[in-house]
Formats: sequence, structure tokens, C-alpha cells
Amino acid sequence: MAANTPMMQQYLKIKAEYQDAFLFFRLGDFYEMFFEDAVSASQELEITLTSRGGSEDRIPMCGIPYHSAASYIDVLIERGYKVAICEQTEDPKQAKGVVRREVVQLITPGTKMDGKGMDEKENNYIASITDFFDGTFGFVYADLTTGECKVTITNGSFDSMFNELAIVGAKEVVLAANFQEDRQKQLKDRGVSALSFEDQIDVNDQFANLLTKVQNQKSIKTASRLMHYLFRTQKRSLDHLQNVQSYETDHYMKLDYYSKLNLELTETIRGKGKKGSLLWLLDETKTAMGGRMLKQWIDRPLIDRTQIGHRSNLVETLIGHYFERQDLRERLKEVYDLERLAGRVAFGNVNARDLIQLKRSLQQLPHIRDIIESIENEDMASLSEEIDPCEGLTDLLETSLVDHPPLSIKEGNFIQDGFHAELDTYRDASRNGKTWIATLEREEREKTGIKSLKIGYNRVFGYYIEVTRANLQNLDDTRYERKQTLSNAERFITPELKEKEALILQAEENSIRLEYDLFMGIRERVKEFIPRLQALAKTVSELDVLQCFATISEERHYVKPIFSEERKIVLKNGRHPVVEKVLQSQEYVPNDCFMDAEREVLLITGPNMSGKSTYMRQIALTSIMAQIGCYVPADEAELPIFDKVFTRIGAADDLISGQSTFMVEMLEARNAITNATADSLILFDEIGRGTSTYDGMALAQAIIEYIHGEIGAKTLFSTHYHELTVLAEELPKLKNIHVSAVEQNGHVVFLHKIKEGPADKSYGIHVAKLAQLPEALINRANVILSQLEQGNSLVVPQAASSEIVYETNIQHKQEEENEAQLSFFEQALPPEEKGSSSKEIKVLEDLKK
Ligand code: ADP
Repeated sequence: MAANTPMMQQYLKIKAEYQDAFLFFRLGDFYEMFFEDAVSASQELEITLTSRGGSEDRIPMCGIPYHSAASYIDVLIERGYKVAICEQTEDPKQAKGVVRREVVQLITPGTKMDGKGMDEKENNYIASITDFFDGTFGFVYADLTTGECKVTITNGSFDSMFNELAIVGAKEVVLAANFQEDRQKQLKDRGVSALSFEDQIDVNDQFANLLTKVQNQKSIKTASRLMHYLFRTQKRSLDHLQNVQSYETDHYMKLDYYSKLNLELTETIRGKGKKGSLLWLLDETKTAMGGRMLKQWIDRPLIDRTQIGHRSNLVETLIGHYFERQDLRERLKEVYDLERLAGRVAFGNVNARDLIQLKRSLQQLPHIRDIIESIENEDMASLSEEIDPCEGLTDLLETSLVDHPPLSIKEGNFIQDGFHAELDTYRDASRNGKTWIATLEREEREKTGIKSLKIGYNRVFGYYIEVTRANLQNLDDTRYERKQTLSNAERFITPELKEKEALILQAEENSIRLEYDLFMGIRERVKEFIPRLQALAKTVSELDVLQCFATISEERHYVKPIFSEERKIVLKNGRHPVVEKVLQSQEYVPNDCFMDAEREVLLITGPNMSGKSTYMRQIALTSIMAQIGCYVPADEAELPIFDKVFTRIGAADDLISGQSTFMVEMLEARNAITNATADSLILFDEIGRGTSTYDGMALAQAIIEYIHGEIGAKTLFSTHYHELTVLAEELPKLKNIHVSAVEQNGHVVFLHKIKEGPADKSYGIHVAKLAQLPEALINRANVILSQLEQGNSLVVPQAASSEIVYETNIQHKQEEENEAQLSFFEQALPPEEKGSSSKEIKVLEDLKK
């Protein structure tokens, strides 16, 4: 079979339309791949590569049994590939010539409905970007598993558009074919695993109804591109797609990609996992839908006072009703993923077990309503009104399906008796037939006196009467027809038996077929409920996140924040929520924070590892928690509502390929400085250390002056340039604070306590002394320091001989630097805490994994 056979012609024709996908070409019970597809699939999937055709011009091929295709598809999709499923679309027996084949679905990373690598608490978004070539970008994203779809137009840079993409974390991005190549590359560099192309942007009948609430022309075009792509690739009804919603990025707190990463809101920087993130800390949700909503809330903190207040008031109410909340949690645990279920119903891949789970979920709703109503609170009451118990649907499911249906809907036995009269007749016929056979067996035994006579069934001969060889002489076998001889028994049939058999088998066949049809009918009825199920899912998710906030806030002794009109931060005994949790039994040292119109910039000094960046992050995390509606880790909290949060913390150097740490630092600084307002929060950790001392110090000072003079954003700036602390004398709204460390029995102990004023300036020399560097060296350092302080920019080196000693010492020190740092840290703790300090490091390292 060579390339010119009609089937290969058909293959090549179809493959030409799906160049960027693996074409799974159905041949009987297999999906076959040919040519390069076969070669790369055999490598990716570790399956055998064979070939087909004559000795010359053999075609590489490999195949996968269709019933186990799902797991292979998962692997390919997870690696960012696309898979086109090409089925036989006519009965091979009826076909004249080559069987007709068509691609029935293109599965892509952004359109996968279920399977491996899909976290139930995470959305699976596909996005599309439209460049309007006037400085604006259209951005739309959808989750095909839940039907959610949102669109916005971003003004300004490609970066601001990219932030949206980073927030939703889309797995696939759909672009116009002429989308700029360097930008395509940027998207790939920044982790978008699949790019796809779609040029159609006109509205058509398939989805026009979904766009009725979108006004703006650009948004309509943007959304239409994605819709075209979805309908073109999925080739089926997508009845669960919800109305496209417009949103404004200005309606949420702005957090750029790096800040979000730096603050470890939904994943940690190193591990890229959820564990150790704010999301991980807060996730006490009981449903998958709630888990997804929690992430969405963290991704988009609010800036509207009323909306924030609404959430936190509900949290307060739930905290005040402990028992009701516990009941609610128990009920929520039983609620299945209604959103994704609705998606599967629309997609046509739902089975009877799914519908039983739906039934059990719906049965929880009246109880959930009762619990909420018993709380007797106005806002709660309106939530309870939104809970639509979908009674008609519950009734249908309660009366139609048995409680423990089989997995397959093709083998019957999942519809209840009494649901459908015709089905009951078939079942009666089959059951009566079976009773008749049982009676016949008894009668035959009596008639013949053969106790071991039995009636059996197999697929080849149907029902038969079996008599052992030893008993054959007792048998008047003229009534029987001999059918099969076994080693020690004979099997017979009778015309009556065959007649009953036909009735039974017919009835069974009929009922299986009818059950399947009935299931399709039930599924259609469920389909009608999709919008109601989706609305319900939203309310249940919201309730779940609110109870989650209440539970966490109570457990961890958080406090309800007050939002000041005067842009004041007042935190009493504030904590970094994640570090506090990780330290567990160990003492976390709470810290206060006070900032107002007279204290806009806090310059933080203090030794490494003393807790500067923890303190800064704590302020940002506290604000974010407050603005998503949660309580905050403090004993008392008054906060402004921040419009934007900017951070430059820790090493994010590997994030943009090909740029130095220092360049990244400067880009982030620019981003903050150009976009921050007086309502923003800026966290700069050791800005300027990536270059020479004077260079870095000059930049740091200029940045501080600029923020202080031009922006007025609340700013925390940590630095190891002690010289900067004198800025407080000139800049009235800048205050020095430091993290204290004390010396105890010749050891440095970090107290992690924030105090007013600058840190002790000769701290470094002090530490060097504790580390037992030569006394002469320490003395010399003190001399150099005092000369530098007197304004000498260069201190003349000492005589050559001592210079040599000096250098050797430095070399020696550098070799052991890493080791020394760790052991110094350990040494720095009081003896009784040594064991636990390495434990703490281990806990943190474990987390980072
Ligand atoms: P710096 O930024 O000053 O180098 P970090 O903020 O990274 O220091 O803190 C170093 C370590 O000290 C953290 O990993 C944490 O375990 C511990 N730490 C920080 N703040 C506190 C605190 N308030 N209470 C207890 N431990 C703390």
C-alpha cells in the first residue's frame, strides 16, 4: 500500500488541513499516524514505529488502539501539541470505495475538556489577542470546561496586555495570522505552550446570542475571533458557553506579572507549585468550583469599597455562626463540580454516574438554603435567594436513574423501574422468561428424577439443559435435541426453550436500546438546565469562598480590616501569613506598621536574614487579603484601598530570557515609577545592588527622591546602603526603620523586630568580628569606615606587606562564603534554638520544592 492508494490520498488531503496537529486517522479499531506524525508520535509516546507499503517507498506509521487513545492524547496535549481526531463517518459495510472520514474534533491545550494534568481547582483557559495597531489590544479568554468567557480592551503597552494573559494563565493563545512575529516569540518565551491562528472576526449565527451584552466593536471583534476558533475546532454544539462578559482592568487592583510572582500569590517562585503560596494558605474551599473562584479572587483583588465591604461583612457573619458554618461545610463537600458537569452535558460526554452525582449535589441545596436562612442576615438572605434548587431537574434525576448505575450507558440497567412503561414491559418479559426457565428446571428435575439436571446459558448456544453422563440412561431424550457434548455431560435444547429464549433476548436487546434512548432524552432535559446550573454554580462557589475566608480567619486569628479614607496604614501585630503558618510551633514575631501622609516612604535597614523582605511582603499580602474580602493577619488593621501594587523583591532574573538581573530590576523600577499613583503601594528590596556601589547608591537615592517628590505612593524600600539613611533629614515624608538584632553571649540574635530609626551602621564590621576575622583586619576596617564617613571617597591602601595578608584573607573568606553564611546564621541563634533553626530552613526548603 503506497502513497498513491485511495486511502492514502484521503489521508494526505485531510492532513493538509491540519498541518500543526497530530492527525489520529481512524482505521478500524485503531488510530493510525503516518509519515512525520508517526515518527514524532513514536518518540513522544514511546510506541513502536512500523511501516506500510511495498518494499520501495514504505510509509512510516504507528497506531494506538482507539479505546486507550485518551491517555495518549493527554500526553501530547500536555506537551503543548494538538491532536486532530479523524473518524470514519460512514458504516464501512455501506461504503463504496474508501470509507468517508472526517476530523470530528481538534483537541488543543486550551480546549481540553478533561483528563490528565487538569487540576479540578484550576481553570483551563484559552485566550485570544487582537492587535488593533493603534496601541490597543483586545484580550478575551474562555474556559471550555465551564463555559466562562470574558473580554477587555487594554490600553497602552503590549506589557499591560501581557499582564492580563499572565493573570489568567492561558494554555493556548489564538492570534491573527499576521500577528507580529517578535511578539509571538515573546508569548512563547513567557510560557504560552501553544499558539493558534484564526482570521475570522465577523459575528455569525452560531454565537451572536452570546455577544448581546458586549457593546464595544473592538470587544466584539476580539471575542468573535475566539468563538470562530472554538466552533471550528470543536465542531459541535457548545450550549454551555455563557454570555461573553466585558470587564475593565481598571476595576481591579493592578498587579503586574512579576509582582504577582514575587509575592507568591498563587504559586511559589522556585517550585512553581501552589504549596507555599497565599492560595495554598487560604484554600479551605470544599468544592472544586469554590477552589477556582478563590484563585480568581486572588488574581483580581477589588478596589471598590462597597464590593469589598460586602464580602467582608458576609465573612464576619459566617465567623459569628460557627455551627451553621460547620454544617454548610459538610453540605458543600457533597456538591459536585456543577460548572464542569454542565460543560460535559453540552459536549455530549456525560454518563449516568455523572448525573447521579448531579442529583446528589442538587439534593444538598435545600439544606444549604435552610442553613443560610437560619443565619437571619440580610446579605445572607439575598444569597440564599440566589440558590436555585432546580427542582424539576432533581425530580427527573430522582425518578429516572438507579443509585449505582454502571459506567457504560450502552449496556442498560441504569434506568429505574416505573420510569417508562415500555421499558417496564420489556423488563417484565425478560424477568418472566427467566422465572419460566427457573420453573422449567424444577419441573424437569422432578420429571426425570435427575437432581443434578440444570439449565444454563452461554453466548454460542443460548439456553440449554445439561445432564451429566452418569445420568443419561435415566433420560427419555426423545423430547430433547442434542446440541453439545462435553467430557462428562451432554447439553440439550427444546423448541419451547428456544422460543422463550428468543423472547428474553429480544426483550433485553429492546430494553438496552430503549435505555440508551431514554438517557439521551434525559441528557437533553439536563441541557435545558445548563444556564440555571451555571448560575447556581456561581452562587455556590461564592458561598464556598466566603466560608473558606471565615474558617481561615477564625482559625488563624485574623482581624477584619477597616478602610481609611486618609490613606493610612495601621497594623498592630501584623504577620506574614505564610511564614507564620510555616513556622508553626516556633515563635513568629509580629510587627506593627504605621504609615500616613507624614510617613509615606519607609527606608528599612538591617542585616541580611533579619526579616526585611518578610516585613515588606507582609504589608502587600495583608492589603491583598483585605481587598479580596478576607480578614488580615494582625490584631488591628486600618488600610487604604490600593489601586496598584508594585514589587521588586528577590531574584526574578531567570524570568525574562537574555536580560541581566540588573536590567530586569531597572525595568521593574521603571514600571513602578511610571504607573504608580498616590494610591499605590511600592515595595523595593535592595534596588541598585546589581551594579557598583556608587552607581547603585545614586540610583537608589534618585528613585527614592522621585517617589517621595513626584508620586507619593506608600513605599517600603529596604537597602544595605546605610548611607541612604541620612535622606530622612531632607525628605520629610521618609522615615527610617530597621530590623533589630542583638548580641547575646558573643552571638548575633535576630529579633525580627521592626524598630524606628536606622540600623547600627557598623553592623557589618561587628558581624565580621563575631566571625573571628583577624583583629588587625577588623581594626583596619574601622579606620577605613571612619575615613569614608568623613567624605574620603578613596582610602589609600596600607603598605604592601599587610596588603598581601589582607588579600589572602579575603580569598579564603570567599571560598567558604556559602558555608559561612549558613553556619553564621545557625551560630547567630541562641543554643536552644539551633536545632529548630535548621528545621525551619528545612521546612522552607521543603515548601519550595
Ligand atoms: P532579609 O530580607 O532581611 O534578608 P528575610 O525577610 O528573608 O530577611 O527573613 C529571613 C528569615 O527570617 C525568613 O526566612 C524567616 O524564616 C525569618 N523571619 C523573618 N521575619 C520573621 C518574623 N517576624 N518572625 C520570625 N521569623 C521571621
